[in-house]
Amino acid sequence: MTEAADLILTNAEVHTLARPDETHEAVAVNRGRIVRVGDAYDLDFLSGVDTRVVDCAGRVVLPGFIDAHTHLDILGQRLVHADLSGAESRADALDRLRDRAAAVDAGDPVVGFGYDESTWPEADYLTRADLDAVDAAGPVVAVREDLHVVSLDSTALERWGEDLPAAGVRREGGEPTGVVVEAAAGAVLDALGPDAAGMVDLLRAAQDYANARGVTGVHDMVRGGHAPRAYRDLARDDALTLRVRLNYWADHLDALVETGLRTNHGEGLVRVGAIKTFTDGSLGGRTAKLSTPYSDAPDERGEWVVTPAEFRDLFDSADAAGFQVAAHAIGDEAVDEVVDTFVGESSATPGGADPGGKRHRIEHAELASDRAIDRMAEGGVVASVQPNFHRWAGADGLYADRLGDRRTETNRLGRLAEVGVHLAFGSDGMPVDPLVGVHHAVNAPTAAQRLGVTEALRAYTLGSAYAGFDEDRLGTVEPGKCADLVVLDGSPWERPGGIDDIDVSLTVVDGAVVYDDR
Ligand SMILES: [Zn+2]
Repeated sequence: MTEAADLILTNAEVHTLARPDETHEAVAVNRGRIVRVGDAYDLDFLSGVDTRVVDCAGRVVLPGFIDAHTHLDILGQRLVHADLSGAESRADALDRLRDRAAAVDAGDPVVGFGYDESTWPEADYLTRADLDAVDAAGPVVAVREDLHVVSLDSTALERWGEDLPAAGVRREGGEPTGVVVEAAAGAVLDALGPDAAGMVDLLRAAQDYANARGVTGVHDMVRGGHAPRAYRDLARDDALTLRVRLNYWADHLDALVETGLRTNHGEGLVRVGAIKTFTDGSLGGRTAKLSTPYSDAPDERGEWVVTPAEFRDLFDSADAAGFQVAAHAIGDEAVDEVVDTFVGESSATPGGADPGGKRHRIEHAELASDRAIDRMAEGGVVASVQPNFHRWAGADGLYADRLGDRRTETNRLGRLAEVGVHLAFGSDGMPVDPLVGVHHAVNAPTAAQRLGVTEALRAYTLGSAYAGFDEDRLGTVEPGKCADLVVLDGSPWERPGGIDDIDVSLTVVDGAVVYDDR
């Protein structure tokens, strides 16, 4: 006799997103696992007195989205502090900071997250003079969307300026402009970081936001010391509603090795992921390392945040200790450097192949050359890319300014998929919203940058699962897999030009409904 299901989603258009993608009318779940997919009539027999039956009214059901590159503490900060991500001009951003200044206790930091000056009429970073005009009692800090650039007012510069790495503090005529980049920006973010209890609050706010957008799992690039503990505390208290892989900042490597942790350790919802490191910076900050100059700064080719020699040392230690490595590389020169390190200087390995099965990852890989893409495919390297970055790739976008015609060579999702690179999709928090990412993947400027609807959805589910060694447990709607599911209010296949407008109706993590907006 078959055990009754805990949960049945029925009267639906269930896409397995397996290969090939099959559709069914219903999916049954028991004890956190998918037990059956099939006809509504057949699955009805699994319904018992305690079964929760959800009539999906014809809606699309997919495997839950896995955001393979995110920063939920930053999302939490953005939800708690001023959100500058929607600001339409410099004045609008400053108004938002003024509203925030009125809301905090006098003297407390006034912080805004997520500004993107490239969408403003006056496309310059916020400066000290701008932020001084907010006229707050405490320091004023505005963090650019990419986290590589932070703007400070005079009070903030007085408080933290002395301790920041001098190389990252931009000056004009000897005076700091208020703009700090890279390591200096990171140091400001560290100084603003919450305490342990504050981190739990931030992550709770962030996971609710993520669940409401269909996210059931994240690979979080945890930076500070509190997030790993906060996630494990939430899991212990049965309050975690996401599957989390912790990708630890490289400074934690020694401590991780010493405590005996390595990639894939852990059980339940929280597991150990990769060691995360940088190589270069960002295109927005003109710090991504290019082989030829920036179009809007002919003397600049970007900079190393972590030098190739340091990166190779780190890679050797992390790889030898059994860690997957997730290396940030955006400019073509940085991507080449990482590929050469991951795959080896010579292409002596016949047939290619990721010998240790470590699935090393390049985070972003935005300007990967043809050669780099081919070598990634051969060497089994995972491309952890952010399709939402395509919103800067249009003819009038930021990438046209920075790169000229090379804008069409950024994030070539179609090309990566075509040659067989493992594609994992993430948001980098800009914003956390997989359907926005899928929309950009499907509607990218050129064919080489584009993916079809099914492939784009797969990259955000099965592809991200693969990047986290989870393809046997997650990423498709098939019996035996974990019951991480999302119900959409519209079909991406029916409206490929408006995927970003589709709402999430219901989200299920580990068999439990964590979001319901039907
Ligand atoms: Zn990131």
